[in-house]
Amino acid sequence: MTGKTFKKPKLGEKLMKGIPTSPGVAMGKVCIHQDIFSHVPTYTIEDHQIGLEIQKLKKAIEEVEEAIRRDHDNVRRQLGYGGYGDAEIFSTHLSIMKDSHFLSEVFEKVATQRINATAAVLSQIKRYEEVFFKMGDTYLKERILDIRDIGKRLIESLIGPIEFDCPFKEAVIVAGLELTPKDTVQIKKERVLAFITEQGGRESHAAILARSMGIPAVLGIGGLLSRIQKGDFIIVDGNLGFVVVNPPEGVIREYQKNQEKIKAHRRGLEKLITSPTETMDGERFTLMANIGSMMDLEFAIHYQADGIGLFRTELPFIVGDHFLSEEEQFEIYKRVVEKMNPREVIIRTLDFGGDKFLVSPRPEKNPFLGYRSTRAFLKEKEMLKIQLRAIFRASAYGKVKVLFPMVSSIEEVRQLRKIVKEVDDELLSQKANFEKGIPIGVMVEVPSLAIVAFKLMKEVDFVSIGTNDLVQFTLAVDRDNDLVSHLYQPLNPSILWLIKNVIEGGKAYGKSVSICGEIAGNPTYFPLLFGLGLRELSVAPVSILEIKEIARLVTMEKASHIANKALGMDSSEEIRQLLEASYPLAYH
Ligand code: PEP
Ligand code: MG
Repeated sequence: MTGKTFKKPKLGEKLMKGIPTSPGVAMGKVCIHQDIFSHVPTYTIEDHQIGLEIQKLKKAIEEVEEAIRRDHDNVRRQLGYGGYGDAEIFSTHLSIMKDSHFLSEVFEKVATQRINATAAVLSQIKRYEEVFFKMGDTYLKERILDIRDIGKRLIESLIGPIEFDCPFKEAVIVAGLELTPKDTVQIKKERVLAFITEQGGRESHAAILARSMGIPAVLGIGGLLSRIQKGDFIIVDGNLGFVVVNPPEGVIREYQKNQEKIKAHRRGLEKLITSPTETMDGERFTLMANIGSMMDLEFAIHYQADGIGLFRTELPFIVGDHFLSEEEQFEIYKRVVEKMNPREVIIRTLDFGGDKFLVSPRPEKNPFLGYRSTRAFLKEKEMLKIQLRAIFRASAYGKVKVLFPMVSSIEEVRQLRKIVKEVDDELLSQKANFEKGIPIGVMVEVPSLAIVAFKLMKEVDFVSIGTNDLVQFTLAVDRDNDLVSHLYQPLNPSILWLIKNVIEGGKAYGKSVSICGEIAGNPTYFPLLFGLGLRELSVAPVSILEIKEIARLVTMEKASHIANKALGMDSSEEIRQLLEASYPLAYH
């Protein structure tokens, strides 16, 4: 019933695992996107040739700037919205081009090392790569792709492009060492079934673009290029991160059948869009959407979400590569709030750091536990105020709540309240147009807050349980690390007890408690979460109908029976079996 993903392919087939980056499943022949860096001619030049090489380089720079601008417009058109968003990646590239340091060193190399312009570009890219790699954090490593993208464009302009060598007429799986944003958008969308690469991660720009374009992608597959050849038949499972090479007929048929089943199932689900969000016995609940981009917002509207339960505001900063001004932020928030009006929008302040955009002044050994998110914002108070002002002003256009991530103590809540009050006063004195008394809430995603839930409820207007991090921090298991993913268990009894404590705290003080971690969108967990007492869920827009569907099989009585039984159990596996036995349909 979940229809979400396929069964894991069996071991023994030519099977590889990478990072599932953009969901969906695709199968077809593969073509390999060649790396232009391995085709760069390098030679020394005579004094009298320096001028000519410099001229070539200048011309290439002009051409590349023009091409970036063109791509920027194309992507905006392709993605179908013009506000902010994924097309902004190309603005990043324009700013790299304008970074005089980057290019002036290339000119210098031509003049002082007496090498051809193409070789100078390549050597500059290598130098930047080294420096960025040494910085050791994921975000900066992924920014290397931007530098390489510029480099590729310059080299192509100097020596001509390397054609995407793909003789097949039909759409293909595109494989590569890495994919830059330019690669991602340059290969026509209709030609691409999926992207697979050896390098790159969830937050890379190509990943963000693949998600926006709705193309399945698995990135970071170790040894990929040595294990595939042009024309191999490949299955890409962007949900689980698997890639199967030349599978036997039986496996292909199984995937095809599943794919058809999923499509048919999803078509059938559409009829639930307009039906009420309720259980079999008529108990209503609120089903909101998690969004991070305008594309998500469109889906949330299409599936008639009851509101936005989590607006992750990081993406425009990540793709814009700068701290957005109050006006830039205001435009984004206003747009979302206006579009959702009269439904509410819970806007989360920046959750920088960890796996997201970096704010740390220096490399950290443990970025997830380090200088990030709200704790960084409490130090960079002016930045927080800019975001709060933008959010507050957006409240003039609809219903807004503010949500703070990664809060770990009551003291922090109090400090945040103080800043909120300052912003309130400032806007009042400026006679700004905004709603007074905007509800202020926090994510419960650090165990310390879940434990003191009863104290917490006195300090906030609402809370939202973020199980993605709550599980990671409670069980001490990195949520993005393959090596320990078997230990990442949202059904661990400790998690259920923490959730229960938060729900009871909310009830005792009449404060709303919602849940916005990934488990809220997984139908298999619904009976348990509902039974524990949750009546407000915020899920990825595509999961809305699946939750509505499972809800129609659930009764309050059975759900609370399941929850009570689960609370008495000792292991995730026991609880999983209980859920499977209670609602077997949710497992198919
Ligand atoms: C969470 O931690 O559960 C959550 C919803 O936030 P994010 O996934 O953005 O960290
Ligand atoms: Mg989180």
